[in-house]
Amino acid sequence: MISVIEPATEAVLEEVPRAGVQETDAAVAAARAAYPAWSALAPGDRAERLRALADAMAAEHEQLALTEARNAGKPINSARGEIGMATGTIRYYSGAPERLLGDTIPVAGGQAFTFREPIGVVGLITPWNFPLAIACWKLGPALAAGNTVVLKPAELTPLTAIRFGELAAEVLGEGIANVVVGPGRTCGQRLVEHPDVAKIAFTGSTEVGRSIAAGAAATIKRVTLELGGKSPNIIFADADLERAAESVPGSVFDNAGQDCCARSRIFVQDTALERFMALLETAVTKLRVGDPLDEQSEMGPLISAGQRETVASFVPDDAPVAFAGGTPDGPGYWFPPTVLCPVSPDDRAVREEIFGPVACVIPFRDEADAVAMANDTIYGLSGSIWTRDGGRALRVARSVQAGVLSINSNSSVRITTPFGGFKQSGYGRELGPHALDAYTEVKSVFFSTT
Ligand code: NAD
Repeated sequence: MISVIEPATEAVLEEVPRAGVQETDAAVAAARAAYPAWSALAPGDRAERLRALADAMAAEHEQLALTEARNAGKPINSARGEIGMATGTIRYYSGAPERLLGDTIPVAGGQAFTFREPIGVVGLITPWNFPLAIACWKLGPALAAGNTVVLKPAELTPLTAIRFGELAAEVLGEGIANVVVGPGRTCGQRLVEHPDVAKIAFTGSTEVGRSIAAGAAATIKRVTLELGGKSPNIIFADADLERAAESVPGSVFDNAGQDCCARSRIFVQDTALERFMALLETAVTKLRVGDPLDEQSEMGPLISAGQRETVASFVPDDAPVAFAGGTPDGPGYWFPPTVLCPVSPDDRAVREEIFGPVACVIPFRDEADAVAMANDTIYGLSGSIWTRDGGRALRVARSVQAGVLSINSNSSVRITTPFGGFKQSGYGRELGPHALDAYTEVKSVFFSTT
């Protein structure tokens, strides 16, 4: 059995059966058996079933949010937003089966067309930070395109995925969306190696992503990887500093910093540093850290004792802590929101993904300096640019090597727009119209008219 822990209390929330290779193989066999009928379903009927699935999720919205808040230790209001996004993503892609358009291409002697065909059985491997939301980023386009799937959620946070699997079996039919709860090294790896799995869509660490890409090479599986990040938040002296500082906690301490998009490198133009730090201290120290089920909480605990130990290793006793927020007493894997400054660009805290509520503030001189520092990383997922100079905003947005950027805002994840990384943050895009490319093969057909 797997003991699922509630991070805010350190108590066992639920015991769930631990799957292994045998259960993974059974799930792949079920997905394979369901594939011919699901992929051949008339587009309008597949769309209708996905809409019914979104309705079933919406009917359980509050219960799913409560489960996610308790299991992942996230504030209930964040959990509500994420379950809303999960449901909204399934609903958005319910529009896709009837819009999987192809091309007609002028050729000699006949007609050439393209079709977007499903790939087959797709393995979905997901992390613990946004459990059901990230799963649905994959489930929506995969199912809409006519694939069947096996979802392997993270062992730490399997509960909403288990409930999703039950709803999917009831609404879509058996075998179309299967859920296997077990360790990455057994169930996840089996999906990567399985000859009947045609593609792996993975979200998780860069280290595991690398091993998945290597493992998938043996069977030439298609792979998309959404990996780690170390995103920049670039604040020029001419920006609305109040708004920029006020929005920092949401951009780096949301989900207790366990967010691949966390803007954990805050670059501030040197002439504005002092003023910005004063504004930032106010914003950080008033952040409400506490019980995820309290409606007022803005930040919860970390996911596990191990994660807290990892995060703490980036803030040793002699770390340059400029200021930090508070944490509740008692049980729970709490870690205070912490800002480091001044911190050397070579410090581990600047170079490595911390995946906890620790941000580094680093001054820069000018635009070229800011872009060079922002790009001095193996990662390229997300980032923000704050300035009142429109030309500069666009120049910097084009120069920063990252897949998802925002200007005078830190909000860059939406159901309707593409999301994914440059460099070692991965490849492939999720969400928006582009995600369908990752779950279809292009087929070209020539029809002779002679
Ligand atoms: P992780 O890589 O440890 O695990 C992710 C998933 O992979 C889990 O389900 C795990 O069981 C499975 N897994 C582990 N080893 C495996 C193996 N050898 N073969 C197959 N599957 C295996 O990541 P995590 O700790 O759950 O999540 C944190 C990481 O995820 C961070 O690096 C974060 O940046 C990244 N992340 C990225 C995005 C994004 O969209 N780019 C989103 C969220 C999280």
